[in-house]
Amino acid sequence: MRDPLTLLHEVFGFPGFRGVQEAVVARVMRGAGTLAVMPTGAGKSLCYQLPALARPGTAVIVSPLIALMHDQVRSAEAFGIRAAALTSADEDRAETMRRFRDGQLDLLYVAPERASGESFRSLLRATSLALFAIDEAHCVSEWGHDFRPDYRLLRPLLDAFPEVPRLALTATADRHTRADILEQLGLPQDGLIVAGFDRPNIRYMISPRDGLQGQLKTVLANQAGAGIVYAPTRDATERIAAQLAAGGRTVRAYHAGMDPGVRRRNQQDFVASEDMVMVATVAFGMGIDKPDVRFVAHAGLPKSIEGYYQETGRAGRDGEPAIAHLFWGAEDFARARKRLSEVDEARASGERARLSALAGLVETSECRRMVLLRYFGEDPRAPCGNCDNCLAPPATVDATEVARKLLSAAFRTEMRFGVGHLLDVLAGRETDKVIGNGHHRLSVFGIADEAEQKLVRPVARALLARDALRADDYGGLSFGPAARPILKGEHSLAVALPAPKARRRRGGAGE
Ligand code: ADP
Ligand code: ZN
Repeated sequence: MRDPLTLLHEVFGFPGFRGVQEAVVARVMRGAGTLAVMPTGAGKSLCYQLPALARPGTAVIVSPLIALMHDQVRSAEAFGIRAAALTSADEDRAETMRRFRDGQLDLLYVAPERASGESFRSLLRATSLALFAIDEAHCVSEWGHDFRPDYRLLRPLLDAFPEVPRLALTATADRHTRADILEQLGLPQDGLIVAGFDRPNIRYMISPRDGLQGQLKTVLANQAGAGIVYAPTRDATERIAAQLAAGGRTVRAYHAGMDPGVRRRNQQDFVASEDMVMVATVAFGMGIDKPDVRFVAHAGLPKSIEGYYQETGRAGRDGEPAIAHLFWGAEDFARARKRLSEVDEARASGERARLSALAGLVETSECRRMVLLRYFGEDPRAPCGNCDNCLAPPATVDATEVARKLLSAAFRTEMRFGVGHLLDVLAGRETDKVIGNGHHRLSVFGIADEAEQKLVRPVARALLARDALRADDYGGLSFGPAARPILKGEHSLAVALPAPKARRRRGGAGE
């Protein structure tokens, strides 16, 4: 085996490892199963490319998207690494297989459905393997935001080669998804390595929609440099682009339904420009190398915190200050909940949890960055000073007492009921469910006055966001680790004053 550090200098020309790369590479080099959770741009590819070169044999990389594989092959080849992809879109499959058998490849990219086939397995037996890398590993989990059943077929393949180290990689996985990935891919519990998620140069700003067009125009007026506006639909991208173009800035639209030629040109122009604004669906930005994007604005709620992090992460990759705006409306949540009711239960539970985490982020009056980083399993020490809530703290009420009442209600009802029922109990409503469970006889029945009742749902969201409450698959609430300090009076809880109804409706109407 060759020394990874020497290869890092000689093949890649990098002076050193970044962040957790060294730890990940070291584990793979000694053959230990590993899950690396690293944000976009943290340098995941190197984590398998380097061991692929240092260890004897070829590395097999499972990747879900053909376009992504081709990007990876190109960038590996630019470093002089011998790489090829085996997909339906590649005409030279026979040639690739020959090179693989002859041991002339360092990296072989393959889609999960091909990887799991019997013929592929016998191909793999023809030569020696350096490692398996499973890219976008969150696709293996129903908890993940992008479950792909084909990923479930990988386990038998991996198990057929027990001596080959396996490395799973993902940019985004919450705690639950991480545990699931370890389990599904047969990785050891101690194989998890998580990189820091903080992007301190990005300023997070989140507000309800209140005349979206005007809000976006203000963003453009105050913000120099190139920017991306994410719109929820193809129609919306074109409509918003037309509205914003009137302001004098170069504004283009980008979505999958456009003429490919126009789309490519818009993208190239954007990459080259210094102040263009692209109004796009979320597909835009994936794999685009533009480090100096100065702002990203969401015209509607992203699909998940992972999505929000990934999309806002396309701003400020050069480390210079950048801003992420999110404009959301209550009907975004209504639409998302409706979608939830249409997917099967196994997926709905994960999506429900993701949606309530997202609600926790947009409704919090706490530091946004702290909420975001906690979601990714970090433990930030102090408010960031670079988000809307830190810069202009919103009007809040002390809801510690309501929080304690809600936690008590969850506890007394044996921690398996949702917030609706707990509110009924606290409000003293004698519903069938309350009576049926005998909850009208509990000491917490009817202890919340009208003002407190209004705070129960925001408090529940805040408690979910800070992991004092956890929701099970059915919305049933139980204690998380942060519950005790609140019950014992060691921590207090403030929530933003609920917005008045009229304002909400106007803001919610959006565009
Ligand atoms: P990810 O897949 O995690 O989004 P990439 O693997 O595409 O990230 O790497 C992001 C960029 O960082 C690439 O341009 C890569 O060449 C560069 N890079 C990776 N590791 C290092 C390093 N140790 N030193 C300097 N640059 C690095
Ligand atoms: Zn902050």
